[in-house]
Amino acid sequence: MTSEEQSSAAQTSATQTSATQTSATQTSAAQTSNAGSLGAPASAESGPMVIAGAGQAGALLSIYLARQGHDVTIYESRPDLRRSDIDAGRSINLALATRGIVPLIDVGVIEHVDAITIPMRGRMVHALGDPAPALQAYGSKVHEVIHSVSRTDLNAILLDAAEATGRVTIEFEAQIDSVDLDASLLRFADGTTAPFGVVFGADGAGSRVRKAIAAKGECEFETEWLDHSYKELTLPAAPDGSHQLDPQALHIWPRGEFMLIALANPEGDFTMTLFAPTATFDELNSADSINTFFEAEFADFAALVPDLAEQFQENPTGPLGTMRATGWSYQDKAVLVGDSAHAIVPFHGQGMNAAMESARALHRHISESPDDLAAAFERYEHDRKPDADAIADMALQNYIEMRSGVIDPDYVAKRELALDLEKRHPEHLSPRYNMVMFSTMPYAEAQSRAATQAEIIARAIADPSVDVDGLVAQLPELPELDPLADPKALSVS
Ligand SMILES: Cc1cc2nc3c(=O)[nH]c(=O)nc-3n(C[C@H](O)[C@H](O)[C@H](O)COP(=O)(O)OP(=O)(O)OC[C@H]3O[C@@H](n4cnc5c(N)ncnc54)[C@H](O)[C@@H]3O)c2cc1C
Repeated sequence: MTSEEQSSAAQTSATQTSATQTSATQTSAAQTSNAGSLGAPASAESGPMVIAGAGQAGALLSIYLARQGHDVTIYESRPDLRRSDIDAGRSINLALATRGIVPLIDVGVIEHVDAITIPMRGRMVHALGDPAPALQAYGSKVHEVIHSVSRTDLNAILLDAAEATGRVTIEFEAQIDSVDLDASLLRFADGTTAPFGVVFGADGAGSRVRKAIAAKGECEFETEWLDHSYKELTLPAAPDGSHQLDPQALHIWPRGEFMLIALANPEGDFTMTLFAPTATFDELNSADSINTFFEAEFADFAALVPDLAEQFQENPTGPLGTMRATGWSYQDKAVLVGDSAHAIVPFHGQGMNAAMESARALHRHISESPDDLAAAFERYEHDRKPDADAIADMALQNYIEMRSGVIDPDYVAKRELALDLEKRHPEHLSPRYNMVMFSTMPYAEAQSRAATQAEIIARAIADPSVDVDGLVAQLPELPELDPLADPKALSVS
């Protein structure tokens, strides 16, 4: 999210128009959400189908569209990450959970993904001054683990699968400068142009497609910046190539106002991320101040990283913000998907999961009304916007939970009671974290259930005479998992 983008956030929105416009681009009558190929070509009448951005949302969506019979061109500003020595952008590895796993099963790449993931069965909490870290398991069921995955490797799998459809062309180093919605033309930074019939804006938090929709008065968006930032560091593998910490856990060093986390990579190293007030980063401006800070706060980690101060000074510090947008589409010409529609802070490990869940939802809506894309796009936003808002809120809440809750006795007691109640009433209660990470219920439902559960649990802790089992038994039954969700899809050990 750039400052340029911030300045255009003030665009005002008008009501969506052209809800009844009929698209000439789509000729497929696909009704399946299971990415079945119908062999219908994209019509040349209104121009080609293009996707801006080859991140997880763009690459995944291209597979869905191709399998529906459309020819698709993706324009990606970066070089091909499969052929060049670049990373795939911010954050080296990511936590993959059920909502992201389901679309990967849907498009048939899950076996490849299994080969590159490391399961994390809980949070390994490194309390200050305590030499023995303690594991807080995420859940009691075998599949209730999250999976560390390299952003680059996952994107490479999706790009390979997209190209393997034979219908997706990816133009790399094609930086979209602006999107002309009247002329249906992409304008690139090098001065060239390309026509489109429909443009899918999967171009991330600083989306140019969103900017164009906003300029039409159809989209209003705002970015709320945290006064906290992040920096990634690497904990190297041991000399024999093994991991220096337990790889099957997400490590957290909670320190109240700030925290360090670690996710394992298959090569034996860990990607560490320091999240802290931006003022703290400003103060850490010399090797001495950096070493003193890490030795005081994260002594066990500091002891394992000889070049800590160098890494800290060389690696960029990233901002953290939540971008909320209303008006995700323009007629039947443009629609947003992934971070371009809903960028969130990374504390619930859900941005990519949500992006892929949205791509699948968008595909479902297109499949349901292939001849009326404008209506499909509106229904997609109507369906997903409450969920995008809910996960944005829950991601912010989870920062407090991670950096201080996990060592707060009150939080720990509530979490233990929630897990106990889940065992006693598996059909009625699941802790909030688990509903977000291991279920496919809409995020908004998870948020509202979590609020009710939190009230019951707080009452029970405050007053042991409360009939907590009676209250939980009255909660509505938890919804079934998505039929495609397979607890065994990824290895868990
Ligand atoms: C520190 C950090 C940790 C995170 N951890 C997690 C996690 O553990 N789990 C999780 O689920 N999510 C996590 N996320 C969030 C996750 O990275 C994003 O939500 C996800 O990558 C969004 O995917 P996307 O495809 O929508 O956007 P992106 O991945 O941002 O892809 C957008 C693509 O568009 C391209 N592009 C941008 N502008 C242009 C242009 N003008 N022209 C052409 N191409 C363009 C970009 O190069 C990029 O390839 C984390 C994010 C951060 C910052």
